Amino acid sequence: MKRCTKCGVEYPETATYFVYDKRRSSLQQPCRRCCNESSRNWRINNPEAEKASKRKWVAEHPEYARDWARKNRVRTKERRTELSRKRYAENPEKYRARSKKWLAEHPEYGVLASNIRRARVRGVGGSYTREQILNLNELQKGKCWWCGKKFKNGKHHADHRIALSRGGSNDISNIVLACPKCNLRKHDKLPHEFNGRLL
Ligand SMILES: [Zn+2]
Ligand SMILES: [Zn+2]
Repeated sequence: MKRCTKCGVEYPETATYFVYDKRRSSLQQPCRRCCNESSRNWRINNPEAEKASKRKWVAEHPEYARDWARKNRVRTKERRTELSRKRYAENPEKYRARSKKWLAEHPEYGVLASNIRRARVRGVGGSYTREQILNLNELQKGKCWWCGKKFKNGKHHADHRIALSRGGSNDISNIVLACPKCNLRKHDKLPHEFNGRLL
């Protein structure tokens, strides 16, 4: 048994109760519970330093950080949806105005959202992420899939190669980026009907 120097409780001398210190190859003092508590207190009392150290860690471990952020998003999804639903119910006007403003500033998100919405309505399923759209933009070198012209001010639409109304899916494999002009002109034509391109 090993007594914690802080709380004075005796615990079995194992890594379950004490943090193992690799450098000194021995168990640390105080007990794990006290360690956790003091670091929690430190975080509460030093919010700025806590933020800074988090930022530093994120900068040094970009992959881990991305992974962690993704897991966190999944974990908190329900809670966040619930919360925003509640807020929306309390003040719908404010939220509608805010999202309208935000969409005006981020047109490409608007297309994303409306495509997903339309797909859901049709029940074709499939979805894609903002990241995949950015990837596509890189692959297409910032040029329209149909006319090959550079996107003006980076403005592009996520276009269904095969329109949803013609049986296409909302999967990323069916998405190309098009300039607003081509997107509107193509509408629900199949690729070969639009400009002779097979896919
Ligand atoms: Zn203790
Ligand atoms: Zn175009």
